[in-house]
Amino acid sequence: MLETVKGLILRETPIGDYDKIMTVLTAEHGKISVFARGAKRLKSPLFTPTQLFSYSEMTLYRSASTYYIRQGALVESFYHIRDTLEGAALAGYLADVAADVSQEEQKEEALLRLILNCFYAIAGKIKPPEQIKAVFELRAAAEAGFRPDLVACAGCGKAALETYYFDVSDGIFRCEDCFRAAQTEREAAASRQSEADSIYHTGQLIALLSPSVFAAMRYTIYTRLERIFAFELEDDALRDFASVCEKYLLCHLERNFSTLDFYRSVCSPI
Ligand SMILES: [Zn+2]
Repeated sequence: MLETVKGLILRETPIGDYDKIMTVLTAEHGKISVFARGAKRLKSPLFTPTQLFSYSEMTLYRSASTYYIRQGALVESFYHIRDTLEGAALAGYLADVAADVSQEEQKEEALLRLILNCFYAIAGKIKPPEQIKAVFELRAAAEAGFRPDLVACAGCGKAALETYYFDVSDGIFRCEDCFRAAQTEREAAASRQSEADSIYHTGQLIALLSPSVFAAMRYTIYTRLERIFAFELEDDALRDFASVCEKYLLCHLERNFSTLDFYRSVCSPI
């Protein structure tokens, strides 16, 4: 049975001289593997719609767990992502994360829309790469089931603070008073354990965040996807925002990405 879907090509692996197999993110089927026969031939009608980072309409035939592309039409090439090595490296990392967090044969409309928005932003250079990266990391973590609670202090319920004590691993925040109270409790509990345990217990990751950084995090989590880049941060705040969003994602996915190491090696400092 043939089916037509739109999908973003996250990865490609060459098979022999002319074929390739692609990891494609779709709204309807989540992440799928698509075999593209002859697509590496320059004269193949599949050559253009199967380029890495392209968003294409594909007519697919399914056999077992693999899809085979019969026809394709390019919707958006995101060609200008490749204007800079930094842009291309960032797209590679975002694609890698999307491939990691997406599920097979599950609806992934929100994640697809998120990464498409990010690719438009990279290609159009509408925001600093660090901001695009951070927004993607925090929102992708939320879409993957690790949505932080950024509404109110976990201790007393206060919502507006001078400093936000954000607990990266628990995805909650406290005000200073509640943070100190929780620390005292934690230390008391730890002192009843062995010394090694107490080091472990106090090794939690707490980020102290300013109101502007925390507002950016709230915006990223709670705003509609089409408005997700409509905010600005000063350089200092952007640096903190980028740092906490990256830590948050990596902490919850419990892994590193070689594409992130590569991006770091070519990105310009804020
Ligand atoms: Zn509190």
